[in-house]
Amino acid sequence: MKRFSVKSKLTLLLTALAAVVAILIFSLLLFISSSVSVSSSMAALSDTARKNASLISMENGKLAFDDSFSFYHHGITTLIYSKSKALVAGQPPVNFSFSDDFQNGTVRTVPSDDTSYLVADIYLPFGWDDGVWIRALSEAPDNGRIAADITFVFFIIFPVFLLLAALGSYLIVKLSFRPLDKISRTVSAINEAKDLSGRIGLKGNDEFSRLSDAFDGMFERLERSFDAEKQFTSDASHELRTPVAVIKSACEYAEKFDETAEERRETIEMTHRQANKMSELINQLLNITRLDQGTEKLSIADVELGSLVHSLCCEQGYDINRLHIQAQEGVFVSGDSMLLSRLIKNLVDNGFKYGKESSCVWITVYKNEDEALVSVRDDGIGIADEYKEKIWQRFYQVDASRGEDSGIGLGLFMVQQIARAHGGYVTLDSTLGIGSEFILHLPLRK
Ligand code: ADP
Repeated sequence: MKRFSVKSKLTLLLTALAAVVAILIFSLLLFISSSVSVSSSMAALSDTARKNASLISMENGKLAFDDSFSFYHHGITTLIYSKSKALVAGQPPVNFSFSDDFQNGTVRTVPSDDTSYLVADIYLPFGWDDGVWIRALSEAPDNGRIAADITFVFFIIFPVFLLLAALGSYLIVKLSFRPLDKISRTVSAINEAKDLSGRIGLKGNDEFSRLSDAFDGMFERLERSFDAEKQFTSDASHELRTPVAVIKSACEYAEKFDETAEERRETIEMTHRQANKMSELINQLLNITRLDQGTEKLSIADVELGSLVHSLCCEQGYDINRLHIQAQEGVFVSGDSMLLSRLIKNLVDNGFKYGKESSCVWITVYKNEDEALVSVRDDGIGIADEYKEKIWQRFYQVDASRGEDSGIGLGLFMVQQIARAHGGYVTLDSTLGIGSEFILHLPLRK
């Protein structure tokens, strides 16, 4: 049985079930047909005896029969016996041996020479002390013959029925398994082509559609995960190349030309700065990849944005003369406070980084009907219109040659990613030479 496919097993099982049901129906038919034929013969016999009794009368001491009276009708013989059980009228069948066991109003089986008879007796009284027995009798139905007939028909029909049942079962199983075939074909195709963009896409709400949805969900996650991994590898190798090259050439130069302690200290400091940059880059890339993959689980809680901004600025030790906070109380969102802090920190850091000398940053927390808003505004260098779209891309920097204080171009990408993970977004309003305002829009806590 193990080497049969599920389809064959189910077809066999369904056919066997149909065969069992057919045999049960056949047995039931046998039982019903024999009892029905006996009881209908008995009913007919008792009707005839009753009817004939109503057609007999006594006139001047003699029995008188109505015209419609008949001694033999539809296989039923009627006999008339005197009160003392002597045959008065009617012709008994040749092989019916007389039984003096008269029972008024009952129908019963009386075994005779070689056949059994069904007998119905009715006593018809005439006055106080006279009367006659009316006996109706017919041959008992031959149950053995009926059973043999039914069995004969059954054995002719049964093989045809079995064949049809097997065919029907096969078709039903085949049709039911069609979606499963589609699932396994698509999964194999995805596996062989190593292309995770394929989807099964079964419609409906049955078990197979749910299985297909589960597979599609899994492919979706796997695809995202592989893409993020690919992106991480290419970003990391691309971006780490520069600081590594700087460190390498600085070391080579130092080996050959650094002579004084001052020169060596400068080289070490520079190497240190590049190493810090690499470590920041790796951290940011890891954060972005986790958010991309959805593996960085948001620990959602109620967050009061005003308090979040105050404690963030306190922790970071920003210059309070250059940072102005105005926070409306009670602006709550549901979010991950660590990620939201990271988002606001990126915007504030940029505000200072791209500010003019002693320029300021203003943080405003407020809300409207259905949104919580955090505005981070600066009076810095501003952003030209042609860069306003591009600055959100990975590694995009308007001026990558800012030297040591240049960033790595991942800050705003991460800002947008965190906002989206919270069901929000960030807008930008900026004028070159005047300043920029980034506004974070988040859904208010429900
Ligand atoms: P990074 O700051 O590391 O370069 P970001 O993704 O944070 O990367 O920013 C991308 C670019 O957008 C920056 O290189 C900068 O040119 C521009 N930018 C971001 N914030 C501001 C700002 N407040 N004022 C002017 N330019 C900005």
